[in-house]
Amino acid sequence: MTFSLHGTPVSKGIAIGKAVLISRAALEVSHYLVEPGKEEAEAQKLLDAFDQVRRELEQLRLGLPKDAPQEMAAFLDVHGMILADPALTEKPMKLIRAQRMNAAWALTTELNDLLEQFSEIEDLYLKERANDIRQVAERVIKALNAQKKDVLEDVALLSPSDIGVESIVVAHDIAPHDMLRFKDHAFTGFVTDLGGKTSHTAIVARSMEIPALVGVRHASEMIRHGDWLVLDGERGVVIVAPDDQLLAEYRKLQTQGLREARKLQQLKHSRTATADNVEIELFANIELPEDAVQALALGAVGVGLFRSEFLFMDRNQAMPDEDQQYREYRRVVDLMHGLPVNIRTIDVGADKALGAGGDVSQTGTSPLGLRAIRWSLTEPEIFLTQLRAILRASAHGQARIMIPMLAHAKEIDETFRLIEKAKQQLHQRGLAFNPKIQVGAMIEIPAAALVLPLFINRFDFLSIGTNDLIQYTLAIDRADHAVAHLYDPLHPAILYLLDSIISQANRANVPIAVCGEMAGDPGLTKLLLALGLTDFSMHFSQLLLVKREILKANVGLLKARISRVLKAYEPEAQAKALERLLS
Ligand code: PEP
Ligand code: MG
Repeated sequence: MTFSLHGTPVSKGIAIGKAVLISRAALEVSHYLVEPGKEEAEAQKLLDAFDQVRRELEQLRLGLPKDAPQEMAAFLDVHGMILADPALTEKPMKLIRAQRMNAAWALTTELNDLLEQFSEIEDLYLKERANDIRQVAERVIKALNAQKKDVLEDVALLSPSDIGVESIVVAHDIAPHDMLRFKDHAFTGFVTDLGGKTSHTAIVARSMEIPALVGVRHASEMIRHGDWLVLDGERGVVIVAPDDQLLAEYRKLQTQGLREARKLQQLKHSRTATADNVEIELFANIELPEDAVQALALGAVGVGLFRSEFLFMDRNQAMPDEDQQYREYRRVVDLMHGLPVNIRTIDVGADKALGAGGDVSQTGTSPLGLRAIRWSLTEPEIFLTQLRAILRASAHGQARIMIPMLAHAKEIDETFRLIEKAKQQLHQRGLAFNPKIQVGAMIEIPAAALVLPLFINRFDFLSIGTNDLIQYTLAIDRADHAVAHLYDPLHPAILYLLDSIISQANRANVPIAVCGEMAGDPGLTKLLLALGLTDFSMHFSQLLLVKREILKANVGLLKARISRVLKAYEPEAQAKALERLLS
């Protein structure tokens, strides 16, 4: 039966293919049917996972210190008893054998049944036991998941007859780093239950230049592995099990889209200036060093934002040391042939988790927590290592340091103190670097925007991170789909801040760019030009789309019309003023 689900489009285009359900978290499991004849092997997997958890618990029990509280041992005993109770394996085994459910799916089905029964119990003590059962089941599912090496092994779920068929990833959520791993795989689209337009997962999806939808609630429950899907990244809809007529229509649209993309390529080598001859500079945002190749090929005049944290987020790798980082930064600098490269210092925390390989304390997961420069300043050795690596790369080209999430003067002081220290350390080791390396700040916390002279006076260049500036100004978590509808780049408060930042920086002659997702949205290009922006930094996939808008724009006219937009607080008045601006 055909049905459609709606979500937030984060990367345009149309994808047609079979669904591949991907799981990651303990209880967010893949739902698929095992191949006929493989039921016993699947049942054995479940038993093995139970055995493994039993052994783990025994180890824990043996390793308990003598003075461990009694409750600890009791707790492990209860879990041991739950594990040994055949009730928890019997039904899942039946589901695997009779319905060919995969092991984790079968176990969660039983778990959900049990939890429902427990929810009706009034006795508080017994009610508590539901938690124990959940924890035990989670351990077993973790063990089942660990039987696979990483998230991409789920891809093996496609049956051999599906090879060669285009496939679309469907998941509850995908961490930004896992998304990056998909880069080398031939998927044609992504659908996730969670996420907002500027969540880091969405940003990485967009960087892969394939259609993607986030915030498609319950997609991973309603779509089954192997379902045919049409993903419409323009309208934000995924159509499940489309009929032949719909498929044919979408195939036609897909071909048209490809034709337009080819036409756009002709703009690659033209000069970037508006119709009234204002020169504009287009920079690229990159996550991996090799992205620089395409950025350059599409005419970027530098890297405006290298999100260096992606070198630190691999779960399977240790933190890169100074030499490793130097090699990566140098690679980008070399690939860009003397053009500027803004290497943003590590911005982990919030929705970007550090890889487990690093021997460091974890970052905060709240967007208001220990993130970006706040974290770097609590880990000075890691920060110094990164600064030395960037400085060494600056001996080979225009590597520049860019600092995320600054708000306080004392953070700025401490950052510059550590940059000086890193320089001294390199000097002592006799290693080359550019002593006059440029240092820039991201303006992405409203407090920074409101005290801009502090930043203008101390930094060589500034770059507005609109993703965070919007998140923090409007008080909405950019990764939370429940408030995604409130994420509004056109909110009068945002326009007020952008106008204030850009005009102050321009007056002071301090280079100012926008490197948030707003810069790469062709629908907002004229607005940013009207505000006086001349440096845009975006994912390279957006470069030519934005360039097309720039070539058509008349900045003189736009500037004459912007004050009406800025003064319009009522939505209708704003819409009218915007329409006039963009006409
Ligand atoms: C931003 O906040 O706009 C930005 C460019 O940084 P990130 O998206 O990596 O937080
Ligand atoms: Mg940011």
